[in-house]
Amino acid sequence: MPDASNGPLPRQQDVAPLDVAIVGGGLAGLYAIHRLRGLGLRVRAYEAGSGVGGTWFWNRYPGARCDVESLEYSYSFSNELQQDWKWPERYGTQPEILKYINHVADRFDLRRDIQLDTRIVAAHFESKANLWTLRTASGEEIRAPYCVMAAGNLSTPRVPDFKGLESFKGKWYHSGLWPHEGVDFTGLRVGVIGTGSSGVQMIPIIARQARHLHVFQRTANFSLPARNGPMEPERERCHKAEYPARRAAAAETPFAIGGYPKPTKSALTVSAKERSEAYEAKWQEGGSISYLYAYTDLLVNKESNDTASEFVRNKIRGIVRDPRTAELLAPKDHPIGTKRLCLDTDYYETYNLPNVSLIDVRSDPIREITGNGLRTGKRQFELDAIVFATGFDAMTGALREIDVRTSDGAVLRDHWAGGPLTYLGLMVAGFPNMFVVTGPGSPGVKTQMIASIEQHVDWIADALAHLRRKDLDRIEPTAKAEMDWVHHVNAVADSTLYPLANSWYMGANIPGKPRVFMPYVGGFDRYKKRCDEVAAKDYEGFVLSRHGAVAASA
Ligand code: NAP
Repeated sequence: MPDASNGPLPRQQDVAPLDVAIVGGGLAGLYAIHRLRGLGLRVRAYEAGSGVGGTWFWNRYPGARCDVESLEYSYSFSNELQQDWKWPERYGTQPEILKYINHVADRFDLRRDIQLDTRIVAAHFESKANLWTLRTASGEEIRAPYCVMAAGNLSTPRVPDFKGLESFKGKWYHSGLWPHEGVDFTGLRVGVIGTGSSGVQMIPIIARQARHLHVFQRTANFSLPARNGPMEPERERCHKAEYPARRAAAAETPFAIGGYPKPTKSALTVSAKERSEAYEAKWQEGGSISYLYAYTDLLVNKESNDTASEFVRNKIRGIVRDPRTAELLAPKDHPIGTKRLCLDTDYYETYNLPNVSLIDVRSDPIREITGNGLRTGKRQFELDAIVFATGFDAMTGALREIDVRTSDGAVLRDHWAGGPLTYLGLMVAGFPNMFVVTGPGSPGVKTQMIASIEQHVDWIADALAHLRRKDLDRIEPTAKAEMDWVHHVNAVADSTLYPLANSWYMGANIPGKPRVFMPYVGGFDRYKKRCDEVAAKDYEGFVLSRHGAVAASA
């Protein structure tokens, strides 16, 4: 794996004082270094992993692959970069994406400002000095007037609190903490717990190795065929010839992904035959956005959505030979697209293999892990290895693990006790000069993530440049702007079908986590417009000041 660090890096005491401390060395942290350096700012990123790449550094499970096409899922900030890089397949594999990220780190000379193996555990803002002090797990302190939290949305892996895990005699793994040397399941009895995007990708591959694979499913998920394949040279040539225009067009769409004709009709205005043909074409084409873009109202009208959901359920019934297994795999508890829609290669076909069984742990939950496997209420399973594809403490987990507070008494964990509050997903009232990239209240996780990362970081860079021009050094949102934004985020979510699913978007996968719909689902296009308007109106909703003096622009 290319997680090369170029030798020991200088610690903060050896380098000039910082303007911006960045938490995270993934796609967001790397772009933040590049962009903020471009303003002449002194920046440094702190990364817990021993290599750059964030989610793509950690998630090395078999079959890990992006479900957004590689020509889209890449940085746009350098046309030379997007022209030069050759993606070998329609969808990038984890090793390929990590190779790309390492290439970016080298190409833009980012490594000299990245400190690896450094987990930030606390961030305290001292109001009088106008300084953030970040503390690392080893006790090092880093000071900077601004900090950028680029710590990821799906970076806090979660193993459910099953009784008895410590007694298990075999090996266990979590999808998001996969061993770098890989795992060979050949000849083993393996249990995979979880059937979200990670489970759906790894199950067909583990099934090919394992003596027997038990899949423990609590909730069935919709999955569509990815139709992956080698990159077609003509497709690549055409895309690259129009790259800047395609990126601009993507920014005008809700998912920040271009290339799909905008839907014009409700699913209910066409005949059943026409609908079925449209869904079939999308099913054959592959890709999730394409499917959800078949009609205007699939994510807002239950009756319309039912037609799309039923089409996929019937596909599952057609693929999986055992009717009972097929029915268990056919999701009925949420509308298609309201949980992350999975993309797969041979997922449903895998259940036709003689060495694969599906266990319904909704009706018969897992009670405990035992020395030799696991036990549900009614059955005992002998296992040599257990894989937790059980997800993450999403969106707020990474920041909750950092003790974020200010000398004025604000504590982020308390401020977010009832659910995360942000203005534009970019800043939090009471926490000056702390920016968040693609956090709660932002559309990030509902879009082509790198487009959102670039948009957020560009907005942050412009805000810092604005402060400097005005000879100011502090920015924070007003409590009212934050509250209005949170209400808007909730109102938009409530006008869609999203809240009908018990998803990680809602915090539903973590016992005790407040049930609040966290992402902004109004679309990347609308969001970007709003951010641009706010900036153009002299940062409406923010207070900009010089510490010690107060010059308001609320
Ligand atoms: P996830 O979507 O949260 O899925 C976790 C799975 O574990 C669910 O099936 C969940 O069931 C199950 N689970 C959790 N606790 C359980 C318990 N105590 N007993 C039984 N089952 C339990 O996590 P993920 O698959 O890692 O995906 C997270 C997100 O990462 C995705 O939604 C996506 O945004 C991203 N991702 C993307 C890709 C890609 O680009 N292709 C690949 C992987 C991940 P319930 O549904 O009942 O809670």
